[in-house]
Amino acid sequence: MQFANFARVRLIHGPTPLEPMPRLSAALGGPDIWIKRDDCTGLATGGNKSRKLEFLIGDALAQGCDTLVTIGATQSNHCRQTAAAAAKMGMNAVLLLERRRSDAAPEFYDSGNVLLDDLLGARIVEMPAGTDMDEALASTAERLRANGHKPYTITTGGSNPVGSLGYADMTHELLRQADDVGLRIDNIVFASGSGGTQAGILAGLGAESSSIPAMGISVARNADSLRALVTPLTHQTMDLLDVPREQCPEVLVTDAYVGPGYGLATPAMVEALRLVASTEGILLDPVYTGKAMAGLIDVVRAGQISAEQNVVFIHTGGSVGLFGYQSELT
Ligand SMILES: *Cc1c(COP(=O)(O)O)cnc(C)c1O
Repeated sequence: MQFANFARVRLIHGPTPLEPMPRLSAALGGPDIWIKRDDCTGLATGGNKSRKLEFLIGDALAQGCDTLVTIGATQSNHCRQTAAAAAKMGMNAVLLLERRRSDAAPEFYDSGNVLLDDLLGARIVEMPAGTDMDEALASTAERLRANGHKPYTITTGGSNPVGSLGYADMTHELLRQADDVGLRIDNIVFASGSGGTQAGILAGLGAESSSIPAMGISVARNADSLRALVTPLTHQTMDLLDVPREQCPEVLVTDAYVGPGYGLATPAMVEALRLVASTEGILLDPVYTGKAMAGLIDVVRAGQISAEQNVVFIHTGGSVGLFGYQSELT
């Protein structure tokens, strides 16, 4: 894979650690579970979006842009990392936050990621639920341009082929780390939302002709629509990397752990959060990794992954969101 061909800025503390979770593995009595600590990417409490932003901002600077504009839900980890990256690079950030929920406790609207967005100096524009966010993104950029700024728009979750390069790169890093410690990876498991993380992982595995299954646990949409999102994005990412599309691995997804919807708590999510925190001292998040871990725990308990196997769970970050969900977790 030729990452040197792409404009890139350095944002993260990498390589992020690959660690065993012996006490969680013992508590479940199943496979050996390892964790790839992409919650430790470093930028303003870290997370997966920082890897995508290294390539997206590289592209933005190559185009002479000075303002990052992006969209997300109220407690968006992506928007918070975009705000931090903009600050670090001396750029402006404009965040359009869709207020999808009206029923949540006050901390949901002003703590967690929202507090950090403000501290990081981003301009926050709240949008009512149901807003056409792609249209809002385009019209905001248009207005900024009319006022003499040079905006760079970033789609939901930074999930386009350029952003996904960050996760092809992570996959390369992970496979090298596993080789170094003599770990045979039998499964990779992670949360899948806007699909860019999964597309990048699949492109990375395809580039290395790896046959490791990579299971995306949906946190938002049904399996068919997630697959329909991830498949073309994986192909486009492989095209950028000059990897033949025939090498595309199977797109594995499940929607069994979404619960009532995106960002809405489930009992299994709360149990997974508490189990990982109390056995390993690791904080997951309520929107993504908590539901992904609930899925992994469920398939382990159902005996679908044998005790001889090694699973790598990608911790994609987001624990600062816990503070926005306090009343739903206690
Ligand atoms: C955005 C996000 C994800 C999902 O990544 P996608 O590339 O949008 O699928 C997973 N975990 C956390 C913590 C996130 O913020």
